[in-house]
Amino acid sequence: MFNRILIANRGEIALRVIRACRELGVETVAIFSEADRGAPYLELADEAICVGPARAADSYLRIDRVISAAEIGNVQAIHPGYGFLSENSHFAEVCRSCDIGFIGPTPEAMERVGDKNSARALAREAGVPTVPGSDGLVASEQEAVRVAKDVGYPVLLKATAGGGGKGMRVAANELALASAWQQASAEAQAAFGNPGIYIERYVERPRHVEIQILGDKHGTILHLWERDCSTQRRHQKLIEESPSPRLPDETRQKMCDAAVRLAKAAGYYSAGTVEFIVDQQDNFYFIEINARIQVEHPVSEMVTGIDLVKAQIRVAAGEKLELTQKDIVARGHAIECRINAEDPAHNFRPCPGRIERIIAPGGFGVRFDSHATAGYIVPPHYDSLIGKLIVHQPTRQEAIRTMIRALKELRIEGIKTTVPIHLEVLANTAFHESQVDTTFVERMLAG
Ligand code: ADP
Repeated sequence: MFNRILIANRGEIALRVIRACRELGVETVAIFSEADRGAPYLELADEAICVGPARAADSYLRIDRVISAAEIGNVQAIHPGYGFLSENSHFAEVCRSCDIGFIGPTPEAMERVGDKNSARALAREAGVPTVPGSDGLVASEQEAVRVAKDVGYPVLLKATAGGGGKGMRVAANELALASAWQQASAEAQAAFGNPGIYIERYVERPRHVEIQILGDKHGTILHLWERDCSTQRRHQKLIEESPSPRLPDETRQKMCDAAVRLAKAAGYYSAGTVEFIVDQQDNFYFIEINARIQVEHPVSEMVTGIDLVKAQIRVAAGEKLELTQKDIVARGHAIECRINAEDPAHNFRPCPGRIERIIAPGGFGVRFDSHATAGYIVPPHYDSLIGKLIVHQPTRQEAIRTMIRALKELRIEGIKTTVPIHLEVLANTAFHESQVDTTFVERMLAG
């Protein structure tokens, strides 16, 4: 096992990794930007090193500075968390050439799955169903028109380098395709420096269901069942749960098998997620692989009882997974609400600022993963996630009741948060009856 690792991230996920390390007896080196200086979670690390100014491009995304901090901190490995450098295969490569362990898959596996268009090709080779669409990248608007005619409208234009719902545009017909094409490629170029676009059929009112996978360096790759992340706004997840309501057992099993097959084909180890959309007839289609720990990982931890972050660190150190697939049993129902510093009354605009007072909920079946404390100033420079409220109960109905109770107990004063929107979703009949697809929140807000 490692003696000391560096956490190349911030906020709640940095704290999550610190907690796992403390339990493993591993020392931690945290990094911070000037905007995060003095953040309370940094005190829980054994050492904290400043890597630059507030702007992520000048600090958390600076490979040279992160590697220097790792050298100064004298660590054996780096945990990248999610976002920032976590899916940057070049960074994983630099770690390797500096003889620093990378707590994640190999750069080669990352490359195979990182580009969405290549991941689609890999899925097809592995016999995993993909959404009907273009064979590869689409080079011009004229080609887009041709492909869309074959695929059938509506179509979805997607950035191959995409993430966080950016660079995605729906086109209902040929007339709309021209402007969708311009917008998607411009957005992809601006956000990712890569204008590559591919086309998928737009699946009407799908569910988003993803499979958590976990593998070691000795060839074992397992799944930890599924998470349903259909409760989204503008392609951004708000609520995640496991198991996925209304998913037939046979479909669930096929999806899990497909995810493991794909991970094997990619030579993948560590934790990862294979994402699918499921149509109204329960057909499932691969959409992408996230080669890192995800925000919503606690949902799978609660139902399986497996600490994914500790497992990631152990397998990165070369340990064998002491589990077989039949040891991984999902028990009960878990739900996670993302608590963002955003104002739902004003179109979810970010709401950074000082938290005057906070009361964290507790009690049976409640987990609150958050780096926020009273007096903490949410900086405006990064994503607005300030915490994740997770509940675990024997049934979905009980989990919903516990979540409502916990959300009402949670007090955050000084800034606006997404708590009211979660309460609205949880009170909604369609949510209770599991009639949720990825358009549900938008329809609820419109109505
Ligand atoms: P990103 O990496 O930007 O998050 P994804 O490919 O994971 O993009 O898709 C994000 C969300 O967009 C999905 O959860 C789903 O709601 C929606 N989506 C993706 N592909 C399709 C599709 N072909 N049809 C309908 N909705 C889709």
